[in-house]
Amino acid sequence: MALIRLEHVSKSYGERIALSDLTLTFDPGEWVFVLGPSGAGKSTLLRVLALAEKPSAGRVEVDAEGLHPEAGGKPSGRVLRRLVGVLGQEFRLLADRTVYENVALACQISGIWDRAALRERVNPLLDQMGIRGKEALYPNDLSAGEKQRAALARAMARHPKLLIADEPTGNLDPAAAGQIFALLNEIRVRGTLVVVATHVEDWVRRYPGRVIRLERGLLRSDAMEGGVPASIVPAATAAAVTEPTVGTELPPVPANPGNPSTSGSSGPGEPPR
Ligand code: ADP
Repeated sequence: MALIRLEHVSKSYGERIALSDLTLTFDPGEWVFVLGPSGAGKSTLLRVLALAEKPSAGRVEVDAEGLHPEAGGKPSGRVLRRLVGVLGQEFRLLADRTVYENVALACQISGIWDRAALRERVNPLLDQMGIRGKEALYPNDLSAGEKQRAALARAMARHPKLLIADEPTGNLDPAAAGQIFALLNEIRVRGTLVVVATHVEDWVRRYPGRVIRLERGLLRSDAMEGGVPASIVPAATAAAVTEPTVGTELPPVPANPGNPSTSGSSGPGEPPR
């Protein structure tokens, strides 16, 4: 069974249409990019997938057991939301807590309080993200890349089956950005569905996979990079994206200082510092 399925999902904010009639299925362990210019609906789609935003129309079906087997039964939307890992462009670490405490807090929210059990959960995550040894530091003592790796450890604290990353390298230099993508890919290889929104096409070339392209809230294409298309929307629907949509304005895509295409120094396989 699919982990999460969107059926004819639309989302509007007043007159503004953020998503328009999307039907998409996501399986465990998939590597999915969501691409599109600024204002295309990428963040809105990710918030819907993270169960943080309810669609204005359509249905979101979640395989609760697949999302987190430990949840058992039929957990509420609130519980399910907590089981999705979320990584944003801003690190949003608590400044008055150490790296360890930031990650541990996410475990405590899901009910792990025993100190030894916390250590058992948190330390391997710090190891995996290459920030073991930094656990006693406060976020302000970390580099931007280390902050994002701490945020990634926190996002993975509850061992989610779905990790949502919205422009996760937007505030990072090319080397730190490469490390984050290498870690996201490793997380995916271990079986987590990873959905990454970006407007940097270069990441798709480096980490080929399924690419969902949005434009003005419409699905323009949903295809495997360089492989057999998963599904391509009919030409008539694709053509419709050139028509103006109510209330949508497309501001120019901002230059991305973290664009890896501007530097040849960062390989995705670089080990974390
Ligand atoms: P992207 O992530 O591709 O830049 P968004 O999903 O942020 O696009 O936005 C899609 C459209 O929805 C834009 O026109 C945006 O202005 C609008 N939008 C997104 N979130 C809100 C909100 N909370 N209130 C009003 N409009 C919103």
